[in-house]
Amino acid sequence: MRTFIQVLILDFLLVLTHTTLAQKQPSLSVIDSKIKGINIYGKPVDNQTRCQHWHSALDIIAIKFNCCEKYYPCFSCHSETADHKPSVWPKEEFSEKAILCGVCGTELGIQEYFDSENTCPNCNSKFNPGCSNHYHLYFETEDQDIGDVESSKTRTNGEAAQKPMKEISCLLF
Ligand SMILES: [Zn+2]
Ligand SMILES: [Zn+2]
Ligand SMILES: [Zn+2]
Repeated sequence: MRTFIQVLILDFLLVLTHTTLAQKQPSLSVIDSKIKGINIYGKPVDNQTRCQHWHSALDIIAIKFNCCEKYYPCFSCHSETADHKPSVWPKEEFSEKAILCGVCGTELGIQEYFDSENTCPNCNSKFNPGCSNHYHLYFETEDQDIGDVESSKTRTNGEAAQKPMKEISCLLF
């Protein structure tokens, strides 16, 4: 009986050790990162703007957030460490330099970055093309405009739909 309990305890300890190791392995340690004198905020793990969330070979840009004008490797870095809600860059400000190449430290304008075909114009490093899936988190996009128009349409329709209902209920009562 004792041995059975001992085996159980041993198993439990083994599982515990495995879980702890499994949890520790994926998250790389956060470092203080500065690229050509520019501070990288959030959770950077190297000096090329990779972070705990995105650290493939291609993840080499940081984005300056419109809300605080600080460079973060990604949106999650900002949401986990900044004390405020993020805001996106409006189209009128797409000439602002808000993209940092982690390899050479060149700052690109937002429009310049869009036109770069995911290649740094200075050092030819390749950027992650997948970042375009997240543009709406950082920059004003067409989708958002359409979304706004759509939602205001729905609102108008909603009001229009409610009015006849009221009229009907007036007739009924
Ligand atoms: Zn911010
Ligand atoms: Zn991150
Ligand atoms: Zn570069």
